[in-house]
Parts: sequence; C-alpha cells; structure tokens
Amino acid sequence: MEETWEKPTARRRPVKKVKFTPRFYIVISILIIVVVLTLVLTLVIGNDAGSQLESTIMEGSILADLNRMKVNELGSVMVLEYHTIGEEGRWSRSVENFRKDLQTLYDENYRCISLKDYVTNNIKVPAGYTPVILTFDDSTISQFKYIKEGDKLAIDPNCAVGIMEEFSKQHPDFNMTATFYVLPSLFGQEEYIEAKLKYLVEHGYDIGNHTYNHLQLSNLSNEKAVQEIVMNIQMVRKYLKDYEEKSIALPLGAEPKDPSILTSGKFEDVEYHFLSSLLVGAQPAPSPVDYSFNPMRLPRIQALHPSLDSGRCGSEAWLQYFRENPERRYVSDGDPNVITVPKHMLPRVNQASLGEKKLRTY
Ligand SMILES: [Zn+2]
Repeated sequence: MEETWEKPTARRRPVKKVKFTPRFYIVISILIIVVVLTLVLTLVIGNDAGSQLESTIMEGSILADLNRMKVNELGSVMVLEYHTIGEEGRWSRSVENFRKDLQTLYDENYRCISLKDYVTNNIKVPAGYTPVILTFDDSTISQFKYIKEGDKLAIDPNCAVGIMEEFSKQHPDFNMTATFYVLPSLFGQEEYIEAKLKYLVEHGYDIGNHTYNHLQLSNLSNEKAVQEIVMNIQMVRKYLKDYEEKSIALPLGAEPKDPSILTSGKFEDVEYHFLSSLLVGAQPAPSPVDYSFNPMRLPRIQALHPSLDSGRCGSEAWLQYFRENPERRYVSDGDPNVITVPKHMLPRVNQASLGEKKLRTY
C-alpha cells in the first residue's frame, strides 16, 4: 500500500492592523532611553573595573620586579680607589687585573656613575643595576700615557685611560667615567699635560683636588691647608681655564684640623666649593639617602689583590662580600626620581635628603 503524505502548508494568519497610538510612542521612547542608559552605564562601569584590574596587575608586576631584582636604594655603593697601573702591588694594580676588574664589575651588573651624581643623589643606572664610582689618585703616567705611533699620538692601550676607553668601546652601556685626583706630576709627560687634561674632561671624566704637595692636612694650620687646596686648583686652571673641581681626595686620608675647610675656602682670589671629600679606606659608602651618609667623609675601597689584602678590605674582598650578601648592595629601580627601599629598611631613610623625590617601599 502506498503511503501518501501531504506537504505541510504554512497556515496563514489573519493580518491584524496595528494601530500606533500616542501611548505606543511613549512606551517605545521610554524603552529606548532605558536601553541606551543601560548600555552607557555598562560601558562606563565596565571600563572602570577594567582599568582597576589593569592597574592592579601593573602594581603586581612592579612588585614582582622589585622583589626579583632585589631593588634596594638604601644599599651600599663602592667608591673604588686606584693608584698605579702596572705591576700588582700594595698601591698598584696590574694591567691584566685592572681589565679583569672592569669586566667583573660589568658582568656582575655594576654600572659607572660620576662621584657628583652619587653625592647629589642623581643616580641613573638601569633597574636592577648597582652604581659604582672609579677614582684614581696621584696622576702618575701609568694612568694616562701618550705614545707615538709614527707621526700620530696615541693613548697607550696599557695605561688606565687606554684600558678604560677600549673597554668603553666594547661595553658602551658600562657608562665609563672616573675622577682623577691630580698632583703636580699631572701624568708625567710635561709636553702633553694640556692635551691630557682636555681629553679627560672632553671624554666625560672629572678632575679632582689632591692638594699640591700631598701633605698630611691634619699637620697643617687651616690657612696652610686651604693654600694647599687652592694651589692645586691654580695648577689645573693653567691648562683648563675656569675648571671647577668639585671634590677632594685627602692625601693619606688625613682630615684637616677644621673639616669645614673641605666644604669651601678662599686663598688669594681663588674660591672653592666642594661637594665631597674622600678618605682612603676601607669600606663601601652608604646610599645618599641613608641617614649615615656624609659626603665630606666618604670611605673608599682600594683595588687590591687578595694576597696583599691582609685586612680583607680591598676590592676583591668587597666584591665577594656583595656576592654573598646581595641584600646589602645598592640596587636601582631605574627611576632617579623615585627612591625604592624594602619596607624593613624605612627607618634608615633620611627623609630630608629626598627633596622632590618620591619614596616607595615594598
Ligand atoms: Zn695620594
């Protein structure tokens, strides 16, 4: 038997005529207003919640970064002190070890800053890095030597400046800089004194005061001590007109009877104003926002081979100390306008030293 089925046909409904009464228009208008308002509110509130969430994530990631990098702008800073570059000795670093020092500092995330930027709390190193300051005393020829290469004058690649300039070329982000505390020897080659001093200031290095006769200032009258300082300034200005020395390295680390003469003084018609004064030994210097920071009594660390460092107070000993105690080292947050310190160290912050800078704890 054959089955047949009918194709369903759409039933037609009777068409009703809709009447658009005024009431209908009012209801539709209210509905539209309600829908639009709901949409707007959803967008506004939604966005707000979104940005709150975003900033929470941001804060969370900043906090994670601070913790990961162990940011601590209350940590200590090394001011390294070099004398002769040549053979290894009590007051001398070998060429090879000086190169090694720079490489070690670079590899272990230290970056150079000028002494002036340190004492004025203008520390600009990337986040996670530690500032370091290089200083050279006594202006021996081993620090800066010119050699003749045919007709041309070249910097000896084995003197301190030659080594630093070469290193800087290979590692521009080390931000190479140093302060040279000069004596009348002025790097030993009389004919090149002016060229050397000009080269240094034109290449981002500073010249500092080390007095004229390298006498122990504690043995001198205040007048005589001021004279010793001014004679150094006059000596440098013979070659660099109007050059302003901004710091002094005390000969033999001895402070004058009246330490205020290190801040400013005047002899004949020469006036000086120093931002800092450097001792000889033998430990890292505090952060410029630490309450114990005193720019007129800054300790330095001598670059010294461990075999000659009976007191374990030289550069290699302190580098090792910071490897073992990374929480003691100054680690930058990358922003010179914000000072970031771990919460528990807050009592060490000298609030007066902050100036316009913001303080952040974590
Ligand atoms: Zn000296």
